Amino acid sequence: MVIVKAQEGIKLSINQNLEKLSNACGVTGRENEVRELMTRLMTPYADEILVDKLENVIAIKKGKEKSPKIMLAAHMDEVGLMVKTITKEGFLQFTKMGGIDDRILPAQKVTVLSRKGALSGIIGSKPPHIQKEEERKKIIAFDELFIDIGAESKENVTSLGIAIGDPVAFDIKYTRLGEDVAVGKAFDNRAGCVTMIEALKLMEKTDFTICAVGTVQEEVGLRGAATAAFGVDPDLAIALDVTIAGDVPGVREFDTSVKMGKGPALTISDSGLITPPKVLRWLIDAAEEEKIPFQIESGLLGSTDAARIYLTRQGILSGNISIPTRYIHSPVSMLTLRDIENSAKLTVAAIKRISRYF
Ligand SMILES: [Zn+2]
Repeated sequence: MVIVKAQEGIKLSINQNLEKLSNACGVTGRENEVRELMTRLMTPYADEILVDKLENVIAIKKGKEKSPKIMLAAHMDEVGLMVKTITKEGFLQFTKMGGIDDRILPAQKVTVLSRKGALSGIIGSKPPHIQKEEERKKIIAFDELFIDIGAESKENVTSLGIAIGDPVAFDIKYTRLGEDVAVGKAFDNRAGCVTMIEALKLMEKTDFTICAVGTVQEEVGLRGAATAAFGVDPDLAIALDVTIAGDVPGVREFDTSVKMGKGPALTISDSGLITPPKVLRWLIDAAEEEKIPFQIESGLLGSTDAARIYLTRQGILSGNISIPTRYIHSPVSMLTLRDIENSAKLTVAAIKRISRYF
């Protein structure tokens, strides 16, 4: 564990935090820019900040001695791409980092993060005009696509500082649509990161010890959460993440009834966690008693850091508070700021009630 020197912290609003964090790049395994930002944004509300060996960042708010320890977890990484080969003509072929649908890749604007800095490019493919009839009906797989940075040759690419292994992020700038709706990159899971910062802000004094963890490599198998949970060894944990908002054409109520703007979602079960009934009761009671809107979801595919934390040591009671978000795992997603605010309020309301349940 390394104690991060208390550098200058910054206090911002939900909107400002989301803008900063969404515009930052943290493709899985290369979360440094987001981690540095998270450190600064959590500093004003933490007694101590640590970084562990996998480079999870842990902000600690100390409670009374021997009081229960609660871990909040929000993953800092985002789905993206990684440079795999550089062709002699100067095109970058890539691999995917995390679950991305190949159909949304062509013609996207991207940022290649080389050791000399960020470079813009677009994802190119064979033009439709010269595709055969059958080819046009097929999904173009990612390994037939390439990133075009306008270079002339492999030498040209390497002279710009680009190397195999460089992370590539989608290039979408944060935008507001009206008062409450935001669109941007990587809301999965910068929305959870913002919720965590906001919860620390709202918490002020607490008897319990809070460990707010920005985790790494969630999108490739909940890896950071595994070591962070072992190290923190909490009594209880809540993962703050996004969930699919199904309120768009073509989604059946059966698949999900969660809607954007209607409050945080509480998960009964997903593919990694059956939330312990006691944990679910605790979260639902907190929402009901403080009149915070919430939604229930169950039978989801996919999982969150909570699934991994739950299986740590002899088992750690864990649950999820999720922000309904449209179009996750695509280059751009959409959510409402009030869902983030309510998720933070619910986190704090639940923490206040811990001794009644555990
Ligand atoms: Zn996520």
